[in-house]
Amino acid sequence: MFKPTLAIVVPCYNEEEVLPETIRRLRELREQLIEEQLISSKSALLFVDDGSRDDTWKIIYKASLRHPEVKGLKLAHNAGHQNALLAGLFAAKRHADCLISIDADLQDDVAAIREFVQKFREGYDIVYGVRRRRDADTWFKRHTAQGFYRLMKAFGVDLVYNHADYRLMSRRAVDALEQFGEVNLFLRGIVPLLGFRSATVYYDRKERLAGKTKYPLKKMIAFALDGVTSFSVTPIRFISLVGFLSFAISLMFGAYFLFLKWAGHTETGWTSLITSIWLLGGLQLMALGLIGEYVGKIYKETKRRPRYIIDLDLWNWPLPQRLSPAAPPEEGGAAEWPRS
Ligand code: UDP
Ligand code: MG
Repeated sequence: MFKPTLAIVVPCYNEEEVLPETIRRLRELREQLIEEQLISSKSALLFVDDGSRDDTWKIIYKASLRHPEVKGLKLAHNAGHQNALLAGLFAAKRHADCLISIDADLQDDVAAIREFVQKFREGYDIVYGVRRRRDADTWFKRHTAQGFYRLMKAFGVDLVYNHADYRLMSRRAVDALEQFGEVNLFLRGIVPLLGFRSATVYYDRKERLAGKTKYPLKKMIAFALDGVTSFSVTPIRFISLVGFLSFAISLMFGAYFLFLKWAGHTETGWTSLITSIWLLGGLQLMALGLIGEYVGKIYKETKRRPRYIIDLDLWNWPLPQRLSPAAPPEEGGAAEWPRS
């Protein structure tokens, strides 16, 4: 029976509180799956440090010295959850047949990974983890998140409902993903676009094991806005429609005012004037802002800046460890290290 090599990719941003437990649980699960002959013993866990300012990297690095199946990737700065995830997937794909992404806080039930792998062995290239319930989330998080899915749907973006970035992808799906060159990558929207055969696994969402959410309201809004404007031009069309409607209405009012003038009642007041000025001013600013959002996106895309910068990649490129302040110095020293 085919035993695929699995890589579990975990983006971590300031997760020192929860990380030791996460590493322990994922290692335990890996052992179990190997014992059950579901995955090969070459399967590994990759922890991506997304420019954390706490001891996250130290924990990853130490664990990688102690356990060969634990790998580390350190980004040079905070690139954001989506980019950290991509960095991990691209670094891990050459070592794996299938890759699973999961958050470091283990809010998503790790037990679902077993079903993910089973689905992969049945021939699915993509397996979505979908939350059955979100009881553990706060009222606010639950409603903003669900409002987000509805909004995206209304704007015509094809999302899997209640699916976050907990999924399995085959190596060829990750290869396909790599071909999407856009800098503003909104994974949840792009993965369904790949078009490979997909399956769904349901699980219960739990509370964070420890630590605080790394997605405060500000980041959530930015994320939602990115999602909408990366995938849909509906907002721009909506603005055009509003503009057109107000133009039509003003024509009608114009005719009406002319009629009043002709009829001799010309007390057209200050009120209507001032309100329309404010109304139109507001609409115009809104439209400009929205167009600016898209122009900004084009600006970012044309610059083709890298999505993330790798500082250390212990899996693919173990040499520069000695240059890292987190790594113990070795004999030979940095002088041997070829600098480009
Ligand atoms: N994360 C990251 N970079 C960031 C923000 C978050 O890599 O800039 C990681 C974080 O460490 C976690 C995952 O993304 O593993 C999801 O974050 P969190 O659990 O805080 O989000 P929530 O579940 O509250 O939406
Ligand atoms: Mg979380």
